[in-house]
Amino acid sequence: MTTPAQSSPHGLVVVGGGPAARAAALAFREAGGSGSVVVLSDDTAAPYDRPPLSKDFLRGDADAGSLSLGDEYAEKDITLVLGAEVAELDTAAHTVRTSAGETYAYSACVLATGAAPVTLPVPGGDDQRVLSLRSLGEGTALRDAAAAASSVVVIGSGFIGCEAAASLAGMGKTVTQVSDETLPQVHRLGEDVGRTLAGWLTDAGVTLVGGVSVTGVEDGRRVLLEGHDAVEADLVLAAVGAHPLGELADTAGLDVHGGRVVADEHLATSAAGVWVAGDVAYARNATAGRHLVVEHWDDAEAMGAIAGTNAAGGDATWDKVPGFWSEIGSQFLQYSAWGDGWDTARFVDHGEGAFTVWYGQDGTTVGVLTCGADDDDEKGRELISAGAPLPA
Ligand SMILES: Cc1cc2nc3c(=O)[nH]c(=O)nc-3n(C[C@H](O)[C@H](O)[C@H](O)COP(=O)(O)OP(=O)(O)OC[C@H]3O[C@@H](n4cnc5c(N)ncnc54)[C@H](O)[C@@H]3O)c2cc1C
Repeated sequence: MTTPAQSSPHGLVVVGGGPAARAAALAFREAGGSGSVVVLSDDTAAPYDRPPLSKDFLRGDADAGSLSLGDEYAEKDITLVLGAEVAELDTAAHTVRTSAGETYAYSACVLATGAAPVTLPVPGGDDQRVLSLRSLGEGTALRDAAAAASSVVVIGSGFIGCEAAASLAGMGKTVTQVSDETLPQVHRLGEDVGRTLAGWLTDAGVTLVGGVSVTGVEDGRRVLLEGHDAVEADLVLAAVGAHPLGELADTAGLDVHGGRVVADEHLATSAAGVWVAGDVAYARNATAGRHLVVEHWDDAEAMGAIAGTNAAGGDATWDKVPGFWSEIGSQFLQYSAWGDGWDTARFVDHGEGAFTVWYGQDGTTVGVLTCGADDDDEKGRELISAGAPLPA
């Protein structure tokens, strides 16, 4: 098939359709990158706001139209190709090829393929009736199925599982949340936060079954648990994590670590002319002085902007402290951290439900989680950036 790419390379080809991809294309233009810009996304929807899928969108408080991230592509002379899955990256020829057989040549390429939900690794876990949540299509399927269901089992106690469970309970569904963690997020955020999240979920009407392993799913609706009665519901949502989509880079011979594409602090990969951004990146953060795994919305956008700027010939560096927010029912929290471990968690109760948790490693501040204490989040970012001692 003849494509414009075969006669002359595009200035930038972006692979992906999320926030990192969008930010990369816009930043390339902003930085004065020359040539045509093409964004290839295997999603059928133009880039949209993903976080509401487990929050307002699931609850029915936001519709698909309101999730749009903007339609400035034409205005910025960016070509967005939807339903285009990139199947091959050829770093010697400087081309990508879609599964439909179209070839796009590039001068610069940004990989922003993100992550996909992990399929529940038990018998029946791959049943089509066991839903997962990442794309707008999956979010719509979940919302539609929830409308017809009166009971739901949510498997997993990561943030997406907790947010979805609270949203579904708020819609009047009977929700059971099962997890192999004894308390939600206890491994990542510690006992105090685990107990707090469990309290929020219980108050929202969620029944928590913690510390159990799921051994199977029968008929798409009966969740079997080791050493515990099975839980049956009209609808089962598996929220058991996401795996980075680094295969494209891996097959092309780029450095890949744990499925993520390895990059320096400028988000340049091991292949000339190829940058990476977002959840699929394993990039070196200049301030941390080490490579980090980061799966947060704001950081995907920030990394996309850096990759796009550098692809245009700029010199941007990834040096900010990563962070995310989460809404669990009516509760809102923020977390800023390097995200690769801590040995001390210091919980400070501010009263009336507000709190801060300071995380330290060898006496140095490495993270801060806040609820109703925005000033501490700001202060925490400064302390983490500076490698300052853990606050008393
Ligand atoms: C339900 C939900 C709620 C969330 N809530 C929050 C929150 O409250 N706060 C927060 O900080 N983060 C949240 N996140 C995480 C956040 O959405 C991600 O960190 C962010 O989307 C990562 O952006 P990305 O561009 O790297 O990847 P993605 O958003 O995953 O986008 C990757 C895109 O690439 C496309 N793609 C993949 N492979 C190919 C290919 N081979 N060819 C072409 N296209 C391809 C995919 O279809 C997708 O469109 C949430 C995530 C989910 C799923």
